[in-house]
Amino acid sequence: PSVIVKKLFMDGVMVTVNHEIDFEKAQEIALDYDIIAEPEEKVDVIAELLKEDDEDESLLVSRPPVVCVMGHVDHGKTSLLDCIRNTHVTDREAGGITQHIGAYVVTINDQKITFLDTPGHEAFTAMRMRGANATDIAILVVAADDGVMPQTVEAINHAKAAGVEIIVAINKIDKPSANIERVKQELSEYELIPEDWGGSTIFVPVSAHSGEGIETLLEMILLTAEVAELKANPKRMARGLVIEAELDKGKGPVATILVQKGTLHVGDFIAAGACSGKVRAMMDDKGRRVKEAAPSTPVEILGLGDVPNAGEILVATENDKEAKHFAATFVSENRNRLLEETKAKMSLDDLFTQ
Ligand code: GDP
Ligand code: MG
Repeated sequence: PSVIVKKLFMDGVMVTVNHEIDFEKAQEIALDYDIIAEPEEKVDVIAELLKEDDEDESLLVSRPPVVCVMGHVDHGKTSLLDCIRNTHVTDREAGGITQHIGAYVVTINDQKITFLDTPGHEAFTAMRMRGANATDIAILVVAADDGVMPQTVEAINHAKAAGVEIIVAINKIDKPSANIERVKQELSEYELIPEDWGGSTIFVPVSAHSGEGIETLLEMILLTAEVAELKANPKRMARGLVIEAELDKGKGPVATILVQKGTLHVGDFIAAGACSGKVRAMMDDKGRRVKEAAPSTPVEILGLGDVPNAGEILVATENDKEAKHFAATFVSENRNRLLEETKAKMSLDDLFTQ
């Protein structure tokens, strides 16, 4: 090294032993030793993994819609999800134990719908900020006795910004004080105009308590999904999103993943955010062990080395090295971004203290 450093010094290039030099310079020096240097062919693994291959229509297959429920606090989001779950997730015969994994699948007329059971818009926003839309359809829950409230408007804005379809569920119609027309009136101010008023938004009056209207709501979800022609390539390596994750005392890191593209298999190498590992075991939303998970399927996985954050992208990779590389790049990119953000913030602070 000292000889090379000296050589560079003579050429007017001041370096220490840890310095990086450009390829041309390295080539020049190598030539002095009768070595022909060739640039290493750099494959951008990350770009390769995140590559969209949706252009090839022939590979695409229909997938179930992914639905989230949004709305003002106490308007009945949880009740609605529970109502759907209780009436449609009947796995007792199968001997399964219903567990909570932050997402569940219901089957209506042989068609599946995946519901994200995550609290409110925060998860939704976090995912959107990472450039990944988790949901296709947002159910906007508005209580018929309360009407449009601040978080209703917030939810509308989130859904519109994310470009997801909105279906309005006017809830609590069992209440004597329910006023469906008023809700329609109020929502039309936000460009959500019901079909019977000449608009294009689907409104379904429901009661999460009595179950009234729930079947219609589910049918409307399927109809909307059909029109949207939701598709994904099930044959590529899996890509998905972390819905939630935690450290289990016995099992280690446990993550609920929504597979979005490709198929995730037990044994696949994976990376999610800054974590990597290998799928050791996979459970579906009913707690049954499964070997693979197709697009729009939520699964709980074991085998990540650490606990990823909700909203992070999960990728399956060819091998352990790629998974580790993905995770490491995620860490360094996040570090750079944080640095940039801190810098930007500092310069703003400077501005205001002047
Ligand atoms: P969230 O905050 O949007 O998740 O709302 P919850 O599901 O927790 O419901 C808030 C309250 O409204 C609870 O007391 C529910 O029992 C009640 N509620 C929810 N849906 C209905 C409904 O369809 N009819 C009536 N009467 N009450 C409801
Ligand atoms: Mg709730």
